Amino acid sequence: MKLTILGNNGPYPSAGGACSGYLLTEGDIKLLIDCGNGVLSNLQRFIRLEELTAVILTHLHSDHISDMMVLRYAVQVKRAKGLSDKVIKVFAPQEPAEEYSRLDIKEAFALNGITQESVLNLGKLKLTFKDMKHPVKCLAISIENGEKRFVFSGDTGWNENIISFGKDADLLMLDSGLLTRDKSTQDAPHLTARECGVIGKSANAKRLLLTHFWPEYKAGEILKEAAQEYEKVELTTLLCSYEV
Ligand SMILES: [Zn+2]
Ligand SMILES: [Zn+2]
Repeated sequence: MKLTILGNNGPYPSAGGACSGYLLTEGDIKLLIDCGNGVLSNLQRFIRLEELTAVILTHLHSDHISDMMVLRYAVQVKRAKGLSDKVIKVFAPQEPAEEYSRLDIKEAFALNGITQESVLNLGKLKLTFKDMKHPVKCLAISIENGEKRFVFSGDTGWNENIISFGKDADLLMLDSGLLTRDKSTQDAPHLTARECGVIGKSANAKRLLLTHFWPEYKAGEILKEAAQEYEKVELTTLLCSYEV
C-alpha cells in the first residue's frame, strides 16, 4: 500500500497548505480518506477523479469534508458532458445528521453510513473502524491488505481505543493537533504530540506519522515533543508518499 499526503493541516490550512486528505492506493484500488479544503486540487496531481474507488470520511467536520461540496460539481459536470458515467462511493458516519444529509447528493455520490461495526472489503483491502473521542462522531480506520496494516486515528482526544486499535500497525498515523502547553482540559478534541508518542510506543507501531498540524506551530517543536516518547516518529510532509 502507498499513502500520499494531500493535506495535513487543521482546523484551517497554512498558506499553500491543505486540510485533512490522504490517498491510499493498492494496485487499482484508490481510496481518498477525508476531503478537506485544498485536497481536491492536490488529489489531481496524482490520479484522475474517475480512478477513485471510494471516499472514506472519518468524521463530518468541515476541515475533513469541505472539498466534497466541489467534488460533487466535478462529478456532475463530467457526467453531464458524457466524460464519465460514474458516481463516487462515499462512506461516512451518519452524525451529525444535518451534515450527513448535505452529502446525500445522488447525482454525484453513492452515500453509505458506517459505524465501528462496519467491515468494508474493497478489492484485497479490508477496512475496519473504531469510535474515537471528538466533539462529533469520529471513526479511526484500519486498512489491511493481508500483509500490512495502516491505521489512522481521524481526529481524537486522548482515549485508550486508539492504542488497542493501532496495535502493531505497520504504519500508524495520528492527529497531532496540539502541543502539551495548549492542552487546557482533559477533554481536548485533539491529541498532543507527546500523547501521540505515548500511543505509538504503547501500540508498538512500526512507524508513527503525525498529522493535523495547526499552521502556527513549528514542525520542529511537534517532532521534538513526540520523539521524547517514541523515537520512531515522523511528521507527514505535504505531497509526500509513504510505503506501508
Ligand atoms: Zn480536524
Ligand atoms: Zn474534527
